[in-house]
Amino acid sequence: MTKVNIPFIYSPIYSQLELPERHRYPIEKYRLLHDWAVRRGAQKDQWQRPVTLTWEQVAQTHCSSYIEKLKTNNFEKAEWRRIGFPWSEQLLTRSLTSAGGTAQALQMALSSSIAIHFSGGYHHAHHDWGSGFCLINDLAIACHQLLLQYPHLKIAVLDTDVHQGDGTASIFQNDPRVFTCSIHGEKNFPFSKSISDLDIPLPKGTDDSSYLNALNQALKIVESDVKPDVILYDAGVDIYTKDELGHFHISLNGLFQRDMTVLSFCRQNDIPVAAVIGGGYQRNLERLVRGHAQLLRAAYYVYTENNFELRSVVRSSEDEV
Ligand SMILES: [Zn+2]
Repeated sequence: MTKVNIPFIYSPIYSQLELPERHRYPIEKYRLLHDWAVRRGAQKDQWQRPVTLTWEQVAQTHCSSYIEKLKTNNFEKAEWRRIGFPWSEQLLTRSLTSAGGTAQALQMALSSSIAIHFSGGYHHAHHDWGSGFCLINDLAIACHQLLLQYPHLKIAVLDTDVHQGDGTASIFQNDPRVFTCSIHGEKNFPFSKSISDLDIPLPKGTDDSSYLNALNQALKIVESDVKPDVILYDAGVDIYTKDELGHFHISLNGLFQRDMTVLSFCRQNDIPVAAVIGGGYQRNLERLVRGHAQLLRAAYYVYTENNFELRSVVRSSEDEV
């Protein structure tokens, strides 16, 4: 098979956000994952800088009065508490850039088979309210932007973050162009769930084999009933056993197997895929980044069969559990 040069979409702005000390959000992980990829041989021509979205583009997905409140910081305290970030211009620019990155990844996937965005997965943002570190829903925005260009595409959003993709599900509830699938912790945030086209809630303590069974079940439905033209994949690593918010028992190898399963499925069925790194919450950033790096390893394995140099580089013992 021919070598695919996998586009990596990244901006240093992703890790540039001032947060209160001990804030739960691991803002450094984006830069650290970028550094990991550079150390492991990512080529200069793989890196793509995202284009920052305009508020007019965001208005294709979110309600204009909500956008106005975001821009002017005109929220009740409780509304900001639900989002979980302190307001700043930096936060707005970061959100617009990150959403632009997901839109760019989805667009690029059409021509390059795969694209990976080193941010994204802000799936708790609804049409007119934000929640759980999510101001605007990059997944939904990316779909809407692509559909403006190609109105007849069928898109599947495959969300394997441990938290349900409630915002994405509610935004596309009555939109047959986008199939939403969420595999998530049944008793985890958000405690009031939306209805996706396909929800697979799993119990606390879910292990590798039951997780992979559920994933394969979901992929079978995607293959037989949905037949998407493109997949937007949220590869959140908060399913990992050491995640502080996850409550699943998925090993590091289990994470790798999940990403291998999804990407192999896409390649075998010739479906372009854009992946975002999604959630992941550990104070131990090195371990957290190793979790996210499994997506890059899997992408190299599935899409660069003839590239032995990269294969050996990504097989270093650092990646073992
Ligand atoms: Zn999550």
